[in-house]
Amino acid sequence: MKITVLGSGTSTGVPILSCPCEVCQSNESVNKRLRAAILLTGEKHVLIDTGPDLRAQMLRANVGALVGVLYTHYHFDHLDGLPDLRPFTFEKGAQLKCYANIQTHEVILSRYPYIRENAGYSNAPQLKLEILPGNEQDGYTAFTLAGLEIQPIRMVHIPKAGVLSTGFVVNRTFGYLTDFKEIHPHDEKYLFGLSVLYLGSPIDRPHFSHIQHSEALALIKKFKPKRGVIGHLSHQYSHSELTAMWQGVAEPAFDGMEILI
Ligand SMILES: [Zn+2]
Ligand SMILES: [Zn+2]
Ligand SMILES: [Zn+2]
Repeated sequence: MKITVLGSGTSTGVPILSCPCEVCQSNESVNKRLRAAILLTGEKHVLIDTGPDLRAQMLRANVGALVGVLYTHYHFDHLDGLPDLRPFTFEKGAQLKCYANIQTHEVILSRYPYIRENAGYSNAPQLKLEILPGNEQDGYTAFTLAGLEIQPIRMVHIPKAGVLSTGFVVNRTFGYLTDFKEIHPHDEKYLFGLSVLYLGSPIDRPHFSHIQHSEALALIKKFKPKRGVIGHLSHQYSHSELTAMWQGVAEPAFDGMEILI
C-alpha cells in the first residue's frame, strides 16, 4: 500500500491568505500546505476526505481513477471539494463508494441534496454514500474497500458542540486520525504498534477542537508506531523547525509525502 499526503495543512491552508509571517512567505515547497487529504493506493485509489483543494490535489497526484472516499467529518476543509468528484463518475455506470459516520452523512446530504436524488442528470457526482458499519455507541466494525481493510475509530472533535470525527486504521498498519480532541478509549486497542500513525495537530498551544503538538507527541510515544507523522499543520512553524523539534519521535507531514507500507 502506498500512502500519499495530498494536503498537510490546517483549515486555512498555508500560506494563509494575507498573512505576512515568515512561514507563509516562505518559497520552500515543504511549507506550502494544502487542506488535509490522504490518498491510499492498493490495487486502486481510495481518498480520505475531499476538501476545497481536491481538484488541484488530484491533478498533482495524477489520479486517473478512484473507487471510494472515507470521510473523517463534515467541516469545510475536509468536505467541500465534493462536487469535484464528478469527473471520476463520468464513465457510464461508475459510482464512488463513500463512507461517513451518521452525523457527517446527514450534513453531506443536506449540503449536497442532489446526491440523494441520484437523478442521473449529468452534473451530479454519482456517489453511493453509506453510513459506517456498526455505530457510535458500540463501535464500528471493519469493512473492505478496494481490497483495503478499514477499521473506523470513534473520536470527539469539538466536545462542547458535540462534533464527532472518525479516524481510520487501514490494513492494521496505517492509522490516520485527524481533527480530534478525544479518542474513544475502547478503540485505542486498534492503535498500538502500527507501522505508521498519522495524527492531525495544527499548533503547539491549547485549542478547542484539536490536540496540540505536545499531546500528539505523547500519543505517538504511547501507541509506539514504527513511524509517527503529524499533519493538519498551521503556519506556526516551518517544516525545518518541526523536523528539528520532533526529532526521534515524529516527522512533520508535507504535501506530496509518500509512505510505502
Ligand atoms: Zn480540519
Ligand atoms: Zn502566516
Ligand atoms: Zn475539523
